[in-house]
Amino acid sequence: MTVQELADALVVADTEIVKILFMKGMAVSITQNLDIPTITLVAKELEVEIETAEPEAEARKVTEMIDVGDLEHLLRRPPVVTIMGHVDHGKTTLLDSIRKTKVAAGEAGGITQHIGAYHVDVEHEGKQQQIVFLDTPGHEAFTAMRARGARVTDIAVLVVAADDGVRPQTVEAISHAQAAEVPIVVAINKIDKEGAQPDRVKQELTQYGLTPEEWGGETIMVPVSAIKGENLDTLLEMILLVAEVAELSANPDRSARGTVIEAHLDKAKGAVATLLIQNGTLRVGDMLVAGSAFGKVRAMVDDRGKRVDVASPSFAVEVLGLSDVPAAGDEFEAFENEKEARAIASDRADKQRLSRLLQGRVTLTTLSAQAQEGELKELNLILKADVQGSVEAIVGMLKQIPQNEVQIRMLLSTAGEITQTDIDLAAASGAVIIGFNTTYASGARQAADEAGVDVREYNIIYKLMEDIQGAVEGLLEPELVEESLGQTEVRAVFPVGRGAVAGCYVQSGKLVRNCKVRIRRGSKVIYEGVLDSLKRMKEDAREVNAGYECGVGIDKFHDWAEGDIIDAYQMVTKRRTLALTR
Ligand code: GDP
Repeated sequence: MTVQELADALVVADTEIVKILFMKGMAVSITQNLDIPTITLVAKELEVEIETAEPEAEARKVTEMIDVGDLEHLLRRPPVVTIMGHVDHGKTTLLDSIRKTKVAAGEAGGITQHIGAYHVDVEHEGKQQQIVFLDTPGHEAFTAMRARGARVTDIAVLVVAADDGVRPQTVEAISHAQAAEVPIVVAINKIDKEGAQPDRVKQELTQYGLTPEEWGGETIMVPVSAIKGENLDTLLEMILLVAEVAELSANPDRSARGTVIEAHLDKAKGAVATLLIQNGTLRVGDMLVAGSAFGKVRAMVDDRGKRVDVASPSFAVEVLGLSDVPAAGDEFEAFENEKEARAIASDRADKQRLSRLLQGRVTLTTLSAQAQEGELKELNLILKADVQGSVEAIVGMLKQIPQNEVQIRMLLSTAGEITQTDIDLAAASGAVIIGFNTTYASGARQAADEAGVDVREYNIIYKLMEDIQGAVEGLLEPELVEESLGQTEVRAVFPVGRGAVAGCYVQSGKLVRNCKVRIRRGSKVIYEGVLDSLKRMKEDAREVNAGYECGVGIDKFHDWAEGDIIDAYQMVTKRRTLALTR
């Protein structure tokens, strides 16, 4: 904050702060921004306690777009929907067909504008409502954005072709949506085709935790024909229903905040970015920080190609005026004050450099450390294997690892190569990828390196199990256990000053100075403590082994008797191991 803001917060004159800092050898002006150490210094001088919020781990941060201050001003906002599914199941056709039937040709401003998102108007419960579709290519964009910590999708529409059923990318899409905790609406497409078997699709989907409502489940499944435009209204209606339950809201009455959907450099216009507004309202003239790019909103174009001056929550606009091209998935924020915007942009640039270096590398080995620090009690895994048979065998064996303390969460397990999407999913969910007898798809290895995703390759199942089990055990807190050192018998007692020392014979193991001891007389333990002095032939000894005599003294215990037994032991931390339940 600036000196002025700090003065307000501390309820002192700003000159007071300038004076304090001057005395410490810092000349500052009233409008200057102070960093946290400096603020702490000033506060300390004024005897005010400072609490610094812990910076969140950048890599896994999913920013809350809504602040506490917004809570009293929340209004409903339209849902933002992503269409996902297997290739050729009709994602593009569905997107086009919804747009064509819902957006009158004239409205599109003559030119078909592609900005990566579009909205449709739907009549629902007597009211005109909107749905915003993200038009970015498939779920790759969805996951890539999530890998960057952005959460833009409220609802996922899963397209499954009725003549083809659940396919690998269908399963992948389900995993991605579930990992992001985004509700799924299923569109069973191509019902116009002869080979269409919608019931078979429903049946197959139940295996992945999606049970249709009419079968007592919770997932809405709508049969549609994207090509003929059949039942699209029902689909839209259902999306709005799910949106209602999700109670999506935002505060339009504040400066805007959201995520960059797409961005590129245009020769004539400069940096062009499509921004999805997730909270607040964006206006022409606003100062803007997007990722580490910065600028003033010069002009905005909406998804129908119209120039607009304002954009409200859930809508996407193309924005001109940024200094640089931000990356898809970057967050943006609007500010009223240029200085603030500039400071934040440069701060972000620093952080980005740093987080690229540190980016939440999740590896089997680091998970263990994380577990001890935080509350990490889940091991997220993605399994790719050569054939379905291996997948099932490995999943079956992993299930036998006891999971009462650490949950193994299998985000995805399929046969096939390790792909870029797997890497994205792993990066987004902090998962480790397990490859069994499989290879990388082109570019995936490099992507894994860049994203810092731990990919483990195996060709022997027991090695794989050993590592996973090791990781799971690493996640368990270590425990302190007693380790016996040896047993010693007291053979004589010698008075020394006001106390006594014991002349002993080490029967087994050894006796070590400063070790823990338990003194037994018969079956009763008469003292527990630490062995303070240990002598061998009148010389101080560090340890005495079995078969030797020695003198033992304990500062707080003198009541020795012949025949007492000294059990020596030490406490060691031990990594706990789990036995496989068979
Ligand atoms: P995407 O890869 O998921 O985007 O799939 P496309 O939208 O490109 O569709 C793949 C193919 O399926 C195209 O040839 C479409 O014409 C066809 N298709 C899409 N929807 C339907 C439908 O509802 N009925 C029929 N019969 N064909 C469809």
